[in-house]
Order: sequence, then C-alpha cells, then structure tokens
Amino acid sequence: MRCPACDYSLWGIRPPGPCPECGRDFRTTEFIFARGKVRFLCPSCGEAYQGNDYEGLPDPRAFACVTCGERVNVDDMPVELAKGVAEKSAMVASPWLRRQSLGLRKATIKTLLASFFDPSKIVCGVATLRVRDALAFAGVVWGFVCVIGVVFSMIFVMYFSWGFTGSIWPGNFNGLLYLMRPIVIGAMIMVFIVTPLQALIVHGLLKTNGSVRSGFGTTLAALYYAQGPMILNIVPYLGWYVSCVWFCVSGAIVLKTAQDVSGWRASMAMLLSTAVVLVFVFGAFVSWRFNIF
Ligand SMILES: [Zn+2]
Ligand SMILES: [Zn+2]
Repeated sequence: MRCPACDYSLWGIRPPGPCPECGRDFRTTEFIFARGKVRFLCPSCGEAYQGNDYEGLPDPRAFACVTCGERVNVDDMPVELAKGVAEKSAMVASPWLRRQSLGLRKATIKTLLASFFDPSKIVCGVATLRVRDALAFAGVVWGFVCVIGVVFSMIFVMYFSWGFTGSIWPGNFNGLLYLMRPIVIGAMIMVFIVTPLQALIVHGLLKTNGSVRSGFGTTLAALYYAQGPMILNIVPYLGWYVSCVWFCVSGAIVLKTAQDVSGWRASMAMLLSTAVVLVFVFGAFVSWRFNIF
C-alpha cells in the first residue's frame, strides 16, 4: 500500500492521511488488495476485519463494528498486513506508478515488458486510473518511436546524399522532412485522436452490456497503458500489424483488470472498437488521398 503520488508506505496510517511524505490524501478504496492478505482496522477500537471481495476489501463497505458498535466505513480504516504476509504479495503495484522510487528508465522498461507479457500488472493495485499517468507512458512509447523513426530517416537521407553527391551531408532537408513528417504526425494522431476515439467506443460498448467499475477516464487510461506494444512501430510496415494485434490483446487484459469486466466483454470491446477505428482511419486516409471531401 504505497502513496500513488510518492510511493511512501501507507500501512497502518488512518485515511485520509495525508501521506506523511507528500501530503496527498488517500482512500482505502483507491487500492486493490490481494484477497485475505491484509486486515482492516476499526478506527475507534482497532478490531481487525478481513477483506474478501474482488478488490480484497470488506463487503459491505460500511457496517457497525462488532466490538465497539461504532459505524465504520472502509475508507476510514487503516490497513495492515496480515500476519506473516509480505508487502509484495499483499498487492500488485504498478511499476509505472512507482516510477519515482524506481527511476524513470527502470519504470519504463518494467512497464513496457508488462504491457507485452503481463498487462494486468500495470493497473493492479489502484482502483481508479489517472489519465495523465497513463498518457505519460503512451507519450514515452510514441516519443521513442518518433526518435528512432527520425534517426532512421536521417541515415536514409545521408545514404542517398552520399550516393548522389559524394557527401553524407544533404544539400537540403526536404527529404528528411518528407520521411519524418508522417511518423511524427502519425504518433500525434494515435495518441490524441485515435486512442480517445477508441476509448469512447470501448466505454460505450462496455456500458451497453453490463457494469464497469470506474468512469471513462479509467477506460482511456487503460488504453494508454496498453500502448506499450506500439513500440514495435520502430520496425517499418511489419511493426504496425504486429503492434496492432498485440495492443488489442494487451488492451483487453488491462481493461479486464481496470474495469473489472469479464475477459469476454473486454475482448469483444477491443475487437469491435479496433475494427471501427481501422475503418475510420482508412476512410480518413482514402478521402484525404483522393480529395473526396
Ligand atoms: Zn505521498
Ligand atoms: Zn470498533
């Protein structure tokens, strides 16, 4: 149980805190605990309660304490580790949210690996995802793709310049601009248009066939966190297809965890929305290319 802002240990501290390190208020229900690994204490008498629902919290969330009779709400209850339980197994904390303690490079690598091979790890441990955290991760991924794309374009331009003029320094940079513009614009469109559009469709689909745990922000954040495989776009052409498929799979797993929906609902929402988005992108591309509008 770590402060989402500064990673300070919050075990045994009565909510809403504030966090002794950074002053941020916290709620018990912001965290997702491993079932049966922690104990929730009555703020009046210290009586310990188990958490047994899907977030590892007591069910119901508000009740009368059996010992002192006081009305307690889980959001007022300090949490401690059950006997013999290590913090590591009590909750799965997102490496991206721990980036202050891990360091940006380590957190990025860990989150990237998780987005490929263990996507639920990124969103486990926090009930409501913040869009700006997730957007920062997507920004790092696409920023890297852009930098690599520009470097490759530069090498390409230098190679041609050397072939034609005998000097690797090109006379002008029109060629470089021509090569790098679609990469940078493509990345911006993916982050600021395509992903929010897809999140809207996904959230709409999820709401039509059942309940979701959190609002649209969590869905959008989930899709940003699932962008890790988009790093494969550093490989021209082939990277796009592989990254799209992998993003779909990762997205479904992140959604399933973040919004507490079934794997089936998450997969259908990802597949349908990806199909709609691809048609939309293709249509926009065709109409732009052939000046239909
Ligand atoms: Zn803090
Ligand atoms: Zn009590």
